[in-house]
Amino acid sequence: ALGSHMNRIRIYDPNMENSLEREWQVLSDVKAALENDEFTFYAQPQYDITTRKIVGAEALVRWIHYGKLISPGVFIPVLEKNGSITPLDQVVWTKVVEWLKSWITKGYHPVPISINISRLDILTIDVPNFLINLTDTYQVPRKYLKCEITESAYAEDGQRVIDTVKRLQAAGFQLMMDDFGSGYSSLNTLKSMDVDVLKIDMCFLEMSAEEEQKGIGILESVVNMARLLGIPIVLEGVENQHHENFMRNMGCRYAQGYYYFKPLPINQLENLLADERNL
Ligand code: C2E
Ligand code: CA
Ligand code: CA
Ligand code: CA
Repeated sequence: ALGSHMNRIRIYDPNMENSLEREWQVLSDVKAALENDEFTFYAQPQYDITTRKIVGAEALVRWIHYGKLISPGVFIPVLEKNGSITPLDQVVWTKVVEWLKSWITKGYHPVPISINISRLDILTIDVPNFLINLTDTYQVPRKYLKCEITESAYAEDGQRVIDTVKRLQAAGFQLMMDDFGSGYSSLNTLKSMDVDVLKIDMCFLEMSAEEEQKGIGILESVVNMARLLGIPIVLEGVENQHHENFMRNMGCRYAQGYYYFKPLPINQLENLLADERNL
């Protein structure tokens, strides 16, 4: 333990700032970080703007390193590169099912929780089998678990992802296509799979003024297409009233964004769920 501790101190040597690879090689010692309880779990509510109710939440991992909260946007890509994302994801998924179990036991009305499934997870382990065993072990109904898979995973490993998705759905888990619209294969994913929910990437809301007109046009056509196909949409990155108006005008109903809730520590989400007026 002392050894790994010392390794990690080296990370912050400013002389190493450029050797990202080595820096993160050390940081990506997920096993040690897991043993040291350095991960913590947040969840960000998904919100129905027509009823003003929470309809779901996405589990998002955080790394507390020397008291500092490190964003998964920084370390997840590294873990994906070196293959150590999967043990972490298995812990996240297990935590989520434990929360669900405890909420059901306490008599709350849990909303479904979405979990992130990496492309690497799909290539490394039998994800459907793992989740089936997990929900069976805790006796948590599978409708409470939604699986977020990014569109880019499909682009890179089409058939493997399609097979996994079909098995997940056959087992009763819902599939949310994450970061929809961020890549080139968006329309193909819809053709090859029965996606249950589309999560629209926040890139459309982050457009510069010049791009905005185009962005709006693309977004509108995606929303219309989803409506024709009968697929609900969650718009990510809704940060202000302007974004919400925009959503309303397009007829998009579900949002996940800072305007409603930031990712919350789990006990705070539990308090919201415990208060049935929020549901
Ligand atoms: P994502 O799956 O697209 O998750 C949404 C990200 O958008 C989250 O960042 C969330 O905090 C952020 N976000 C939500 N609303 C807003 C908003 O209004 N404005 C802005 N600017 N950002 C917003 P986060 O938590 O930093 O996660 C980043 C990415 O890390 C996630 O993107 C996901 O791809 C990955 N990730 C997070 N947790 C896990 C995990 O447990 N397993 C795996 N495999 N990946 C994870
Ligand atoms: Ca996600
Ligand atoms: Ca997303
Ligand atoms: Ca993303």
